[in-house]
Amino acid sequence: MPSPTPAQRLARRAWRLLHVDAPQCLADAQRALARAQAGADGHGEALARLALGFHGLYFAAPAEAGAELRTAEAGFRAAGDRAGEILAIAGQARALWRVGGADAAMALLLPLRDEGLALLRDEQRAVLLNAIAGCYSAQRQSEQAFAYMFEALRGAGPKRGHGFDAALHCNLSHELMELGDHEQTLAQIELGLARCQGLANARLQSVLRINRIVVLVEQGRAEQAMPDVDWLLATDATPAGRGLRALHFETLALAQLKAGRTADARAQLARAAAMEPTLLPDEQVELAVARALLAAAEGRLADGLALLARCTAPGGAAARAGLRAQALAAEEHSRLLEQQGDAAAALAQLRRWQALNAERSRLASRARYQAAALQTELLTLQHRLEETHARQRATERARAELVLANRALSRQIEQVQALQAALREQATQDALTGLANRRHLNDTLPGLLALALRERAPLAVVVLDLDHFKQVNDTHGHPVGDRVLAAFGRLLREQLRASDQAYRYGGEEFCLLLPRTPAAAARAKLEQVLQAWRATVHEHDGGAFGGLGFSAGVTDTTQVPPSPQALLTAADHALLAAKRAGRACVHEAGPAPRPLGAVVARAESA
Ligand code: GH3
Ligand code: MG
Ligand code: MG
Repeated sequence: MPSPTPAQRLARRAWRLLHVDAPQCLADAQRALARAQAGADGHGEALARLALGFHGLYFAAPAEAGAELRTAEAGFRAAGDRAGEILAIAGQARALWRVGGADAAMALLLPLRDEGLALLRDEQRAVLLNAIAGCYSAQRQSEQAFAYMFEALRGAGPKRGHGFDAALHCNLSHELMELGDHEQTLAQIELGLARCQGLANARLQSVLRINRIVVLVEQGRAEQAMPDVDWLLATDATPAGRGLRALHFETLALAQLKAGRTADARAQLARAAAMEPTLLPDEQVELAVARALLAAAEGRLADGLALLARCTAPGGAAARAGLRAQALAAEEHSRLLEQQGDAAAALAQLRRWQALNAERSRLASRARYQAAALQTELLTLQHRLEETHARQRATERARAELVLANRALSRQIEQVQALQAALREQATQDALTGLANRRHLNDTLPGLLALALRERAPLAVVVLDLDHFKQVNDTHGHPVGDRVLAAFGRLLREQLRASDQAYRYGGEEFCLLLPRTPAAAARAKLEQVLQAWRATVHEHDGGAFGGLGFSAGVTDTTQVPPSPQALLTAADHALLAAKRAGRACVHEAGPAPRPLGAVVARAESA
């Protein structure tokens, strides 16, 4: 390989400065371009355009950056630099999904993924992985997005990453924020901001702070977002500052409205109106919500409602937006409808908000598993370990070195395994029904019990089992059985109060905890749920069936010694009695152990 020309060296330095010092990166890349053009240095020109193009992804219009990167790609191809070509394409993909073209971007990237991962190292590999992650994120496939982001982070560690890792923390925080995992989002933002300490990159810092504002506002802590809002407003919207585009005035306005700074919010919305209209549905939704809240704050409630009605109508911006933006629109729409006195419509939006958040937490729970990425990684590491074992046997001389290598690999495997276990631990949700799982029941029951005792209010405990469920599987097949279980989960979520908790206990068994509810009231409620379940019709390919039942046992903290185990056992016994009494009924546990006949008689006379 010929030694690099001065223009090439300068262009490579510009690339490494992309995140470390954005203004210097731009200056170096421009000088490298001028030198390369003067010296007819095609490869140097491509390298300079690559740095300019990536800089443009953050600071220029996506179309401009895309054009620069297409020229770079052609230059790399002519110079026979395949790695450069792949990076230029990865950049073009980013430019595409920034304007809503995620599918087209993915079509560019997937064909060169395997080759790119084999060819690229360190931060360059991370750039490719991150571009793929961005496409998955834009396609709302969070699990895949997380897998690629975590993998990218491993490639671009603080030592070799040239600050790319800060950008990855930023993207991770964005993805987690979409799923409402506030704690993890804030943790990633802290990591990103800590990395920004050594970097001259106000743009990256501003995006991290925007994400923190979104999270704090969603948590109802808008006041605490004000320092970030003020930091952003005090930072110049210039290429040396927080950039010229995607300034998120709508996010700032929303935070200020929530913090009661109406006049400031009005100013942000005026600035947003002066910008080019955004093509991203999420930003369109946030803008509509902020405008609606401002209208309401100014006493123009009808205008605000009209804005939100348009946004949440079929075909409106919300229909194309992500779950977080949709939930925001539903929540604020509900709030304004309530202000207007339309309780029914407000409730409908609130239900929608609830369903969206259930979906977010379902995705968050799955994302936490992150099994796919870690599993793949584990397999690769194990494979490499096996290979080194084989080599170890063959070459006597390299033994000492290989022992060291093995040790390092084994440590890595242990780390990945520990991470996997930790992620599994964190999952509290049952994927099929969307209800909390048994593990979560064990975590929450002692707390609810302590609260009930302190409040001197009964806590009802219900154990419930679907009747003849095996027959459903046998007659219609296991997949239909799965759908019935999911439908039952939905029914429970609809029918129970927000303060009630429903858990999937095991296969077709469920447990409910109803705070401030005596057993008799819980039984009456369960009988209503039973009626609703019996009336539910289950459709499947070409047919329908219904009339399914369940049996339930109910007890409360006034009837049995208040310990988790005693409550669950008593409810379980009452369930058994309900099954014995012919199923499709709800039985209460007696205050003390009594003969089965007495329990049945009591239930029948009720
Ligand atoms: P009983 O009224 O006595 O409760 O009768 P049953 O048929 O409901 O009870 P049994 O315990 O004999 O069978 C429970 C069935 O539930 C058997 C099992 O295959 C099925 N099941 C458990 N978990 C799942 C699941 O996740 N999906 C599906 N489709 N079936 C499940
Ligand atoms: Mg069972
Ligand atoms: Mg059963």
